[in-house]
Amino acid sequence: MKSRFVALGLILIFNLSFIASAFTYDIKTQPGYEEFIKYLDKIFFVSTDEMKNIIKDFHSEMVNGLSGSNSSLKMIPSFTDRANGTEKGKFIALDFGGTNFRVMLVDLDGKGGVFVSSVDKYVIDKQYMEGTGEQLFDFIASGIKKIMEKNNISSHNQLELAFTFSFPVEQTNIAAGRLLIWVKGFTASGVVGKDVVVMLNEALKRIGIKNLKVAALVNDTVGTLVAKSYTEPSCDIGVVLGTGTNACYSEKMVNIKKWREISDKETMIVNMEWGNFNKLPITVYDKNVDATSSNPGAQRLEKMVSGMFLGEILRVVVHDLIDRNLIFQDESAINAFSNHPDFTTQDVALIEADNTDNLENVEVFLAKKGVKNITLESKKLLKHISKLVSCRSAKLAASSIAAVVLWIDPELKNKHVIGIDGSLFEKYPGYKEMMDDALKSLFKENSEHIVLEQAKDGSGVGAAIIAASVASTNNIKH
Ligand code: ADP
Ligand code: MG
Repeated sequence: MKSRFVALGLILIFNLSFIASAFTYDIKTQPGYEEFIKYLDKIFFVSTDEMKNIIKDFHSEMVNGLSGSNSSLKMIPSFTDRANGTEKGKFIALDFGGTNFRVMLVDLDGKGGVFVSSVDKYVIDKQYMEGTGEQLFDFIASGIKKIMEKNNISSHNQLELAFTFSFPVEQTNIAAGRLLIWVKGFTASGVVGKDVVVMLNEALKRIGIKNLKVAALVNDTVGTLVAKSYTEPSCDIGVVLGTGTNACYSEKMVNIKKWREISDKETMIVNMEWGNFNKLPITVYDKNVDATSSNPGAQRLEKMVSGMFLGEILRVVVHDLIDRNLIFQDESAINAFSNHPDFTTQDVALIEADNTDNLENVEVFLAKKGVKNITLESKKLLKHISKLVSCRSAKLAASSIAAVVLWIDPELKNKHVIGIDGSLFEKYPGYKEMMDDALKSLFKENSEHIVLEQAKDGSGVGAAIIAASVASTNNIKH
């Protein structure tokens, strides 16, 4: 078998000694096995010093991004700020993520109460991700039509729409913004460079909906921060750890040097688009994942951290180990680990969470994938790699959060609640604990000032709160 990867000198030496030994050794006793695992441990380990370097590099990229200089962080103004808890009204909220599309009816009572009376959830099909922009926005419009019919919202009721769109959008005001670049595997044609609100309005017109107005276009991180701050005043950072990853925070207008003139307010939320941060200790496996992605060279942090990529990282590592005859010595494994993107983050989670003596759940999972003759050693190694991949993800996410907290509060004097939305944070077993441990290694007991809290459905609810605050500014009655 020919390795698909660029071989490092060290790895080459291991390879030579394996050529004669294919399929004959118990993998535990094979020459180089222990060394190779140590090598993997080393390249996936993020030390406290590396975390500190990431923080330092984040700060210089933030300075550049805020001043309009070249930076991997776009630092996009959101035209909105944190909630004050008095926002009120009834809205249709859309949450268009990378995997899921949710449509909700949200009622805000103006006293911190949020009532979500109806939620429809759709998985975004590949045909829409990769088709035309019109097809994609028609799919969104049809979801809106369905919730209106289900809730007897007549076409005479004038209603406002809050649109969370979780992609890099350069906003020009609270309800307008053009897509800068597709990420998370989307390639739908004719959308990059266009105003996504205009595209949605056109789709609504095509489907015969005339009584809806898009009151707010919101990034999911901004929605998350606003939703959490509605009831938690010390929340000043919003983070998404789902299909992709990104964050936003409330910034002083004087610091947004490139956009100082756009608001007379003192602060505004800045959407960092941190998924594109690129000062990172990357491995040969990350290079491989990047090269086969839909956007090579972009979104380097996202490709090491987020839900869309953890399964693929696991797959390319295991594929390399198969090439080196260090795991799964049965031919059936070659097929199972050959294809991108056959492994998901849920798979990584399932493998890591298997605490049975013989890793029976891993066995069942592998059998479903067609892998035969599985040894306990191979299963243990698979679990070990899953742990390396998820732990690195959590440490990088925690370092990125630490960078933003220290930007706002350099001596970490105050409490900062971080509102976090997304299924990776919510569902990956032990993910939050790994992030907390990383923060502890950086800040010791002072890490208690950084509180990671789930903001479930924050992305959509926050958009409704923003729509309400726009409405109250414009004196629209609900
Ligand atoms: P979106 O990004 O569309 O807003 P989510 O926040 O639900 O949607 O994130 C979806 C991503 O979360 C999926 O790509 C998947 O990788 C990850 N995910 C979903 N379920 C789990 C799970 N049980 N364990 C770990 N990760 C999960
Ligand atoms: Mg989301």
